[in-house]
Amino acid sequence: MIPSPAIIVPSMRPVEIIGGGLSGLSLGLALRRAAIPVTLHEAGTYPRHRVCGEFIAGLDPATVAKLGLEPFLSDVLRHTEVAWFQRDSLQRRQTLPAPAFAIGRHVLDQRLATAFIAAGGDLRTRSRIDLKGSPPGRIFAQGRRATTGSPWLGLKCHARGLTLSGPLELHLGEHAYVGLCELPDGQVNVSGLFRQRSGLALDRATALPAYLRAAGLDALAFRLASADIDADSRCAVAGLAFGRAPQSNAVSSAPRRLVLGDAFALIPPFTGNGMAMAFQSAALALDPLIAWSHGDAGWPATVAKIDCLVRARFRMRLAASSLLHPALLRPLGQRALTSTARRNLLPLNPLYHILH
Ligand SMILES: Cc1cc2nc3c(=O)[nH]c(=O)nc-3n(C[C@H](O)[C@H](O)[C@H](O)COP(=O)(O)OP(=O)(O)OC[C@H]3O[C@@H](n4cnc5c(N)ncnc54)[C@H](O)[C@@H]3O)c2cc1C
Repeated sequence: MIPSPAIIVPSMRPVEIIGGGLSGLSLGLALRRAAIPVTLHEAGTYPRHRVCGEFIAGLDPATVAKLGLEPFLSDVLRHTEVAWFQRDSLQRRQTLPAPAFAIGRHVLDQRLATAFIAAGGDLRTRSRIDLKGSPPGRIFAQGRRATTGSPWLGLKCHARGLTLSGPLELHLGEHAYVGLCELPDGQVNVSGLFRQRSGLALDRATALPAYLRAAGLDALAFRLASADIDADSRCAVAGLAFGRAPQSNAVSSAPRRLVLGDAFALIPPFTGNGMAMAFQSAALALDPLIAWSHGDAGWPATVAKIDCLVRARFRMRLAASSLLHPALLRPLGQRALTSTARRNLLPLNPLYHILH
């Protein structure tokens, strides 16, 4: 049940969240359900498109229940099969150990934002907060950090009229991979990670086709050219730095900042499941934050506890993903992966469980 602002206990310590993506919004909403006062600052607005594959793999029922996410996921598509392509050639169809939820981010984020406001949350959009200060009660959920010099570029668009070989297609190209995901509204999300190439066109309309061709994915570029692209959905993100964010508390053994979601660690897409991790980190933070807000714990101890829980939960998958990711992008690694997968020698299910 959602408490009305009138019954907020005045002695509860307020929480401030920086970043209204999946981690910030789901945590803010769950805290409001516990009657905690929450202010959430989001630099952008809703709804908006984000570069994302838009399929959520490995989201466990316990996290869904803890954060009360059922109503937001009731109409997702549940994809159970992936068709793997290398250089435009179908290599293998894989049944996923558990269904992946498919839903557009501009729908999902908007739903969570609306629910957060309805629950009495104070949502401030177009509010970009300086990340330097770290007062008690501040949570850093501002997503991936931008790094100059990173070679990685993410591109995406929604398309109609694309015929798929299955509800999910994953394409491996030269220093690139691309996912096609059927969405509930009949559109297909096309999103990819590419190593940047100098001399390629970079305007909104031409970047994705140009990068597909440069990666040797000509057939996919051709399919996209004959589809109906939603022009507003075209977006790009550059400067992606994968792995753990450098700790601001290097001189002390105790963490000083509470960081969640991509702000904690950016796992490479397709080897990992950043959306599930955003929700899972929010779920892990919930009870310690409620205890802190009630005055039952101090802030440094709360930050240290959550940091410990989040690290323990993601340690294995971050390590496995950092090993697998380079192989997915290099021709030699791709050939080795696809040939072992074709001969059924790749332990796909154990790999899936480590990564999710
Ligand atoms: C190419 C690509 C494909 C991907 N595909 C998938 C996929 O298919 N499945 C999957 O599970 N994951 C995927 N991911 C990862 C997934 O998108 C992220 O892991 C997820 O969005 C993380 O959520 P978050 O809440 O931590 O951050 P975000 O969703 O990035 O939200 C952070 C928010 O903070 C705001 N913000 C930033 N700075 C400030 C500031 N100073 N003040 C106020 N607000 C601020 C931003 O505007 C943003 O809205 C993909 C990522 C990429 C790059």
